[in-house]
Amino acid sequence: MSRLGSRVGANHPVAFAIRHWGPTLPCMTTSDSTSAGLPQERRLVTSIPGPKSQVLQARRNAAVSKGVGATMPIYITDAGGGVLVDVDGNSLIDMGSGIAVTSVGNAAPKVVAAVQEQVARFTHTCFMVTSYSGYVEVCEALNRLTPGTHEKRSALFNSGAEAVENAIKVARAYTKRPAVVVFEHAYHGRTNLTMAMTAKNMPYKESFGPFASEIYRVPMSYPFHDGRSGADVAADVISKIEKEIGAGNVAAIIIEPIAGEGGFIVPAAGFIPRIVDFARDNGIVFVADEIQTGFCRTGDWFACENEGIVPDLITTAKGIAGGLPLAGLTGRAEIMDSVHVGGLGGTYGGNPVACAAALASIETMEELDLAAAARQIASVMIPRLQALAEKTGVIGEVRGRGAMLAVELVKPGTHEPDAELTSTIAKACHAQGVVVLTAGTYGNVLRFLPPLVMPMHLLDEALTVIEEQFLAHTGN
Ligand SMILES: *Cc1c(COP(=O)(O)O)cnc(C)c1O
Repeated sequence: MSRLGSRVGANHPVAFAIRHWGPTLPCMTTSDSTSAGLPQERRLVTSIPGPKSQVLQARRNAAVSKGVGATMPIYITDAGGGVLVDVDGNSLIDMGSGIAVTSVGNAAPKVVAAVQEQVARFTHTCFMVTSYSGYVEVCEALNRLTPGTHEKRSALFNSGAEAVENAIKVARAYTKRPAVVVFEHAYHGRTNLTMAMTAKNMPYKESFGPFASEIYRVPMSYPFHDGRSGADVAADVISKIEKEIGAGNVAAIIIEPIAGEGGFIVPAAGFIPRIVDFARDNGIVFVADEIQTGFCRTGDWFACENEGIVPDLITTAKGIAGGLPLAGLTGRAEIMDSVHVGGLGGTYGGNPVACAAALASIETMEELDLAAAARQIASVMIPRLQALAEKTGVIGEVRGRGAMLAVELVKPGTHEPDAELTSTIAKACHAQGVVVLTAGTYGNVLRFLPPLVMPMHLLDEALTVIEEQFLAHTGN
């Protein structure tokens, strides 16, 4: 453990070199504009959870439904840049961004200023009653930034699940067809329709049925487990659709370009393009669910760009608004406009405060080139994780793109999932003040989603802690 730790400590060009890369990544210094002045450090002053968090946890248990889980039983008072500070004064390195949400950093200065200004002017009118420019501007930004130069329209909602629901409503209205094709390992949300679309039973679906009908699940390309080419798996998908559903009955095929909750599964090259071609040839609306992958997370504005995919509809949420609840559905004008007037909407969808936050977040992403920052994070993390895989033998695969990276844990020398070790290492990282998340259909994936403004010295330190915990728990 100490061997790797000291190697990293002694030979550590990253935090220094980044200063010279300042012009392209001006955000990656230690405090300044990204962190509202919070010290960018890992600092443990109590055990985790500390006494004040424990008191709040007891109150939580008495007040909050048990059905709402938590990765860590700590209570946050401040956050910014790459840290979360808890009620006991512990400062933890944030490798989760509240599940890929605070990509521009927590309480990012521009977002805070924009929200403060908007919240003092008006908080709500309902866009369907009397309109305001922020909603229109967010739609303009979505139409401009999402893949494809075709004419587009957007609509705004409160959550990712709601955006997915509306994608299905629009696709059905446009095609006048019922069936929806989803993939193994997919995650699309927790509402009734999106539960039906989500693959994993526990914890998302167990005992919550019956589910919506006309949802059909097909294989997902998962190179680590299927060892097959993208074209091969796509051929199976297409055959299944033709034989079991009938292409002419399918309204939409929806896929995450990188499966998020399913374990950061990157489908083999060519898999998605083949399916896009099939959709286009058969009048099926192709929907990319970029709720987790979107807004610079994978090193592009949207993950679809990596293979030049232009979806008919695209869902966005999470990273869109610096932590305020907002979601978008964007797509071809003729599809989005095929719905009758009044068919889409909701009381709070595109709330003016959330729209102000989104506009400030998008401006921040453009100004700081956070797509490049995501690629920079990958270039630091991937070699370290690969070295760790070789050293420990329990990491079957290091995968992902940009600042959406994961390791899949297996019993050494096999493809057999090791969920227990995954949970052990995640908890050990938590105890050391590094917030990491798990994922995966088999519960054996550690995933990393740092804020894209993560200071490099903290990224380095988080990796060192992760390495130490792996080595400590694999007999190295
Ligand atoms: C998180 C997520 C959703 C659901 O978003 P909510 O805002 O939690 O409703 C849908 N699809 C994907 C890919 C997600 O990662």
